[in-house]
Amino acid sequence: MNRVYLDYNATTPVEPEVLDSMLPYFSGEFGNAASIHTPGQRARAAVESAREQVAALIGARAQEIVFTSGGTESDNHAVFGVVGQAFLPVPSSNADSLLHIITTAIEHEAVMNACQALEKSGVRVTFLATNREGQIDLDELQRAVRPETVLITVMHANNELGTVQPLDEIGRIAKERDIYFHTDAVQSAGKVPIDVNRLGVDLLSLSAHKFYGPKGIGALYIRSGTRLRQLLYGGHHQRGFRPGTENVAGIVGLGKAAEIARESLAADARRVSTLRDKLEQGLLARVPHARVNGGTVSRAPNTTNLVFPGIEGEALLIALDLKGLACSTGAACSSGAVEPSHVLTAIGMPPEEARASLRFSLGRHTTEQEIDFALQVVPSAVEQLRELSPTYPKVAEAR
Ligand code: PLP
Repeated sequence: MNRVYLDYNATTPVEPEVLDSMLPYFSGEFGNAASIHTPGQRARAAVESAREQVAALIGARAQEIVFTSGGTESDNHAVFGVVGQAFLPVPSSNADSLLHIITTAIEHEAVMNACQALEKSGVRVTFLATNREGQIDLDELQRAVRPETVLITVMHANNELGTVQPLDEIGRIAKERDIYFHTDAVQSAGKVPIDVNRLGVDLLSLSAHKFYGPKGIGALYIRSGTRLRQLLYGGHHQRGFRPGTENVAGIVGLGKAAEIARESLAADARRVSTLRDKLEQGLLARVPHARVNGGTVSRAPNTTNLVFPGIEGEALLIALDLKGLACSTGAACSSGAVEPSHVLTAIGMPPEEARASLRFSLGRHTTEQEIDFALQVVPSAVEQLRELSPTYPKVAEAR
């Protein structure tokens, strides 16, 4: 069967050039980057050159990049690291309850659940609401800041909607109020230009498998001078800050993927957004009552999220999979859960509409023919499901 993959926000294929760059480090160049002999030093050199490639993608300096096991670890390290460091100088036993962090209601679980875990241990957390487009209100952010606020963590591009937050303005507020600013850039790195200095972020998470690198490797950018408690204790790898034998092949792959992304970012964005817009406009024209979720603000170029009232997203996803089209009802990490997407409900969608929504995320390898295929199969699958739907006649009547 002809298979079309429109789920690049879940993960991307490793680019052949990336794979080629990694292969030697599994066998011939198998040295431990912490060893002082020649094989070790060759691995070390590869790791350091990857650090430069990653830094170049986001306008950072190489020494500000720490390799991690991916976006989840980077996010946890940033959130727990800032709060953990802020605990230290305060001797009082209930000092923890004074700390405050600000985040949003539409973060990925890696940030959201980390914040919720801190909340359980006494840290105060403000979850900023967003408007219907998935953007926070900067005045509300200003009002949420307290003297005891130690961290603002706001994602860059949302994984379900693609909506991009105004990071430069958030960064300005954080700087004025002397608060650390972390962003989860897992869905934006490699898709939209990032300059950590222009955005004013102190900490930034990224993950290789979202931009044609391997799974299980990522990075945390830590601005020089940022006080951050380490998560793991062990050997002296990465200056003792993130111990554990370095995943040399993964790091090399991440570096290569970052280099390719930097070179092709502008051209990829132009091509992919044209295809995304064609898909979006085509579906709006062909499927009665379909609407775009979060479509009127700045978005990652590859993402569109649509609601098809009167159907169950999971049923549509399965129907499309049977026809050979892969997409998603929300974050890949939460698929299988019966709860509607927390992102879609947070932007104010009623649960039944959130459940009737689907995300299509395109990538570097998406072709016009694949979009034509989607435009052919999605409308007919929606129509078939609506014929069986007890709720669709009411939906249609109401509009
Ligand atoms: N943050 C966002 C916005 C994501 O989309 C994801 C993955 O879906 C993550 C964090 C987690 O990244 P990883 O899969 O590398 O742990």
